[in-house]
Amino acid sequence: MIFQPDAAQSSLKLLFVSTPVGALGSGLGGGVELTLQNIAEAMVQRGHQVQILAPAGSKLAGSAAQIPLLPIAGTLQPTAQTQGRESPVLLPEDSVLANCWDYARQVEHQFDLLLNFAYDWLPFYLSSFFQRPVAHLVSMGSLTAAMDQIIEQTLNYFPQTIGLHSQAQADTFRFGDRCRVLGNGLDLSLYQPVYEPAAQPYLAWVGRIAPEKGIEDAIAAAQASGLLLKIWGAMPDQAYWQSICERYPGGGFRYEGFCNTQQLQQGLGQSRALLMTPKWIEAFGNVAIEALACGLPVLAYRRGGPAEIVESGQTGWLVEPDSVAGLVVAIGQIGQIDRRICRQQAEARFSMAAMGERVEAWLMEILAESVSHKR
Ligand code: UDP
Repeated sequence: MIFQPDAAQSSLKLLFVSTPVGALGSGLGGGVELTLQNIAEAMVQRGHQVQILAPAGSKLAGSAAQIPLLPIAGTLQPTAQTQGRESPVLLPEDSVLANCWDYARQVEHQFDLLLNFAYDWLPFYLSSFFQRPVAHLVSMGSLTAAMDQIIEQTLNYFPQTIGLHSQAQADTFRFGDRCRVLGNGLDLSLYQPVYEPAAQPYLAWVGRIAPEKGIEDAIAAAQASGLLLKIWGAMPDQAYWQSICERYPGGGFRYEGFCNTQQLQQGLGQSRALLMTPKWIEAFGNVAIEALACGLPVLAYRRGGPAEIVESGQTGWLVEPDSVAGLVVAIGQIGQIDRRICRQQAEARFSMAAMGERVEAWLMEILAESVSHKR
């Protein structure tokens, strides 16, 4: 079949290949899990067909559970953010990443386009061996020399095919100006805004409990403010959490576990504000838009994706990076933020429909380009 790029209404057959660092629904994959699910749903809503390949044990929630998902067995991939900059490319024995792409190679002719969600060397390298175009949605900023090199090489061969989430993420790559910045979006109907939270005030922190997320700064700021900090998120490394608990014996924070979106938005909605204290350049920060959708002000360091999401003084406060004192001041100013504006901003800027339009336009351009190449 020859794809007709100008037939914008035609239904595409899309193969999504998930992150190999954890099953969908486990939280080990971080924001990419929700992003994949939301993009899949948005594409289905726009009349396209989606098939997902993901590590065994993966589950999709809510209406996304209708989307066909093929579980692929194999050993999970180590996460790129735990490697050094000069780290070599790693592939464990019986790698789920390799198994996914082996399967993708066998079925590629049933699809118009493949969309890769893995921040790993192999799918970029394999792009030129596939007959169908492969698009890559890169979920983190520059972390290793090997990844930078292979993403750049992919861009050189297939100029449209690299998607990113924020300008700040693009700025971490020497070739960032050649990538497509797509933002992110949510199914806002799943997040109920709360404009008058419960009498018992508390702050929220949400994310993978890992060194790059800087939870210690949020704990220190909450302690200094005398407000309880409730913490939600996957805990890939128990020893790291233990070390945090030992460092802050004064209490004032509580781990609430890793919740599904429905439970998470309930806890978030009753919070006074979300604290975001990343030590790295966050590529986007899904939790920031989830908080806004619940009507929460976001108090975040002025770097990475959150600095593009939060409008300081309108939907939260942006704070000098790594300044706990700055966070404490921002906590004191939570009352100046109108929670209705937070929700309005989520609706205006971060809807699933708007994200779907952007992603679809990007994929259509890749397809149009691949057709003109083949002529
Ligand atoms: N999350 C969740 N349940 C929790 C805590 C977090 O589902 O209890 C999800 C949250 O919805 C978000 C992701 O974890 O999609 C964290 O993504 P983010 O982009 O903020 O950071 P990343 O982990 O990708 O660096």
